[in-house]
Amino acid sequence: MTADFAEGGLGRQCAVLCKAGCCRYYSLPLETPRTDAQFDDVRWYLMHEGTHVYKHAGDWYLLVMNECKNLLPNNLCGIYETRPRICREYDATDCEYTGEVEYELYFDGAAKLEAWLLERKARRKRAPAAKALAKRSPKVARSRKRA
Ligand code: SF4
Ligand code: SF4
Repeated sequence: MTADFAEGGLGRQCAVLCKAGCCRYYSLPLETPRTDAQFDDVRWYLMHEGTHVYKHAGDWYLLVMNECKNLLPNNLCGIYETRPRICREYDATDCEYTGEVEYELYFDGAAKLEAWLLERKARRKRAPAAKALAKRSPKVARSRKRA
């Protein structure tokens, strides 16, 4: 976040328009869940207040909606000169406020993950039946042609 409050300046964008959106959470990479036990762990994370899980560009992340203690009431950084590397390197011209972040999956609670797991299970059950049907179809067509 910068202190450039001129019209169109990044300080105005961050503090006034966005209201310091990226200072109000942190996000960490997660091991990609594959087994029932791993998905159950993710379900447990999601049972905690302010905890979200998302998948972006093939990778899974834990997102914790928890405001930074250095954020001032005017949405500026209270330790701007010594702010951590991750804050200094975050590009305000290419962030979640200025651009669209595309999530492949986004769960803001355990119920959403549970629903997605059920849907995935049903999809996987249907898949072999569809495959078998696709395999059978050419044979049916050939036998009809011969007749
Ligand atoms: S999300 Fe973007 S606009 Fe919002 S405070 Fe962070 S860098 Fe600024
Ligand atoms: S240290 Fe400053 S810039 Fe970084 S998250 Fe906290 S308030 Fe925002």
